[in-house]
Amino acid sequence: MTVRDKKVLIIGGSRGIGAEAVRRFAADGATVAFTYHRSELEADALRQGTGAHPVRCDVKFSNSVKIAVDKAIDVLGGIDCLICNAAISDINLVTDIGEERWEEIIDTNLNGVYYAINYCLPAMISRHSGSIITVSSMWGQVGASCEVAYSAAKAGVIGMTKALAKEVGPSGIRVNSIAPGMIDTDMNAGIASEIVDEICDETPLCRIGKPSDIASVMEFLASDESSFITGQIIGVNGGLII
Ligand code: NDP
Repeated sequence: MTVRDKKVLIIGGSRGIGAEAVRRFAADGATVAFTYHRSELEADALRQGTGAHPVRCDVKFSNSVKIAVDKAIDVLGGIDCLICNAAISDINLVTDIGEERWEEIIDTNLNGVYYAINYCLPAMISRHSGSIITVSSMWGQVGASCEVAYSAAKAGVIGMTKALAKEVGPSGIRVNSIAPGMIDTDMNAGIASEIVDEICDETPLCRIGKPSDIASVMEFLASDESSFITGQIIGVNGGLII
C-alpha cells in the first residue's frame, strides 16, 4: 500500500488518532498538512518531528475552515486526500446537555465535516480524482446512551458519506468513513478503567484499539489500492459490533 507523494490534509491532526495519521502518512512519503485548534504546542512538535504543515482552524466556523483549506492547498499544491477527523465528545443525559453544548457538538462533529468537504471538492472535481475519508464512530451506527448528540452527529456523518459517494463517484472521487470502536486516546481519558475492562471483555479481539489501528485503514483508503471502494463504512472495533 503506498501513499508516497499523495497530498493529504488531515482535519484534526494535533492529537490522538489524527496525530498518529500525520506521523504515518509523513513517514510513508506523503506530503501532509494538518489542522489544530487548541493544541498549538502539540502541533508544533508534530511539525518538527514529521515535516508536516500545521494550520490553525476551528471547524465550527465555515470561514476558519475555508482559510485552512486554502492554506493547505497552497502549501501542498493541491489535495489528493482529505481526512475529516476532528471531533469532540460529551457524556451526559440528553435532558442535561443543553442547547448550547448540543449545537457545539453538531457544529464540530457534523457541520465541520461538511465545511471541509465543501471547500476541498471543487479542486478534486476539476482534477477528476480524490479520496475523502470521514471519521464517524460505532456510536453513529448503533447509538450510545448518554451520547445522544455525539451519536446523532456521527450518524449524520455516515449518511453524508454514503450520499456524497453517490454524488461525486462519477467525478472520480471516492468517499468512505471509518467507524472506530473504543480507541486509546484523550477522548476516553475520563472513562473509568472498570468500564474499559468491561468493553475489552465484550470485544471478540479482547482489547480496545490503538490510534495506529485507525491510521493504517486511513492509509489504505487514501491509497490507490482501495480504488474500487466508495460509500463504505469501515468498522474498526475489534468485533465489538458486527
Ligand atoms: P482526540 O480528542 O484525541 O483529538 C481530537 C482532535 O480533534 C484534536 O486534534 C483536536 O484539536 C481536534 N478538534 C476538536 N475540536 C476541534 C475544533 N473545534 N476545530 C478543529 N479541531 C478540533 O480524539 P480522537 O483522536 O480520539 O478522535 C479522532 C476521531 O475519531 C474523532 O472524529 C472521534 O469522534 C473519532 N472516534 C474516536 C473514538 C475513540 O474511542 N477515541 C471512537 C470512535 C470515533 P486540538 O486538540 O488542537 O483542539
